[in-house]
Amino acid sequence: MGIHMKNGKKKAFIRNGIGILCLFLLCLIVQGMLWTGRDTADVWNQEQGGNAPDQEKEEGETEKKVAYLTFDDGPSCLTSEYLAVLKEEKVPATFFLIGEQIEGELIAVVKQAKEDGHEIGVHTYCHDAGVIYESEESYIEDILKTKERIKEQCQIETSLFRFPWGSKNSYVEGFKDGVIEEMKKRGMEYVDWNVSGEDSVGCPSAESILANVRKDYKKYNNPVILLHDSASCRATLQALPWLLRELKQAGYSFATLSERKETCHFGEY
Ligand SMILES: [Zn+2]
Repeated sequence: MGIHMKNGKKKAFIRNGIGILCLFLLCLIVQGMLWTGRDTADVWNQEQGGNAPDQEKEEGETEKKVAYLTFDDGPSCLTSEYLAVLKEEKVPATFFLIGEQIEGELIAVVKQAKEDGHEIGVHTYCHDAGVIYESEESYIEDILKTKERIKEQCQIETSLFRFPWGSKNSYVEGFKDGVIEEMKKRGMEYVDWNVSGEDSVGCPSAESILANVRKDYKKYNNPVILLHDSASCRATLQALPWLLRELKQAGYSFATLSERKETCHFGEY
C-alpha cells in the first residue's frame, strides 16, 4: 500500500512536471511568434528612423485601404525598370505621360505598361508652362494632342488627365474651370493627389522621398501618391521597393485610379 502511494505521488509529480514544462514551452513559442511579427517593422524603424505602421490601430478599422500610385513625366529610359519592380511586387499603378516623349523604344514600353495592368493617363505634350498654359485653348489643345499621341502610337484610350503642377497652379487659375468642363464633355476627368514624394525638384535621396510619403499616407484610406518617372533621377526608383513593402505592411492594397470611387481633386477630399 505504502509503496503504491509513493509510486502514485511520483507519477503525479512527473505529470505535473511535464505539464509545467509544456506550458513553459508554449509560452516561449507564442512569444516567439509575436516577436517575429514585429521583427520587420522594428528593423525598418531602426534603419529608416521613421515610424512603422501601427498594426493595432488598423485592426479596428473596417474600411478597405487602397493606395493609388501615380507616376508623372514618363515615359523615360527608366520606365521599364519601374515596370519590373511593380511586376515583382504585383502592384498596379497609373502613369501620366508626356506626349513628346512617346517615341522610339518607349512606345513599346508604354504598351507593356498597359499590358501589365497599369493605367495610362494624359499629363501634357511638352511640359512647358509658357506653351501649355498660354490660354484655355492652348491647354485644351495640349491635352488633346497628348491623348491623340497615346492613341496613335500605343493604341491606348485615356480618360484621365493631370494638370502639370496640379490643378491649383497659378498659370491655369483664370481658365481652369473652362478646361475641366470642356474635357468632361469629351469624357476626360482630371486627378490631383493627396500625398507627394516631392521627387520632382532636383534629385532628392530615396530616404527623403520615403519620408515625404510616410508623412502623409497614413492620413488616408485611399491615398493618391504623386511620384515621378523621370530620366533625371533614379532616387524614386530606388525608393519604390521600400515604399511598396511599407504600404503593404501597413495594410494597403493597390489599384489604378479609375478604380477609385471618389475623384481626387485638391480641396475636395
Ligand atoms: Zn509633370
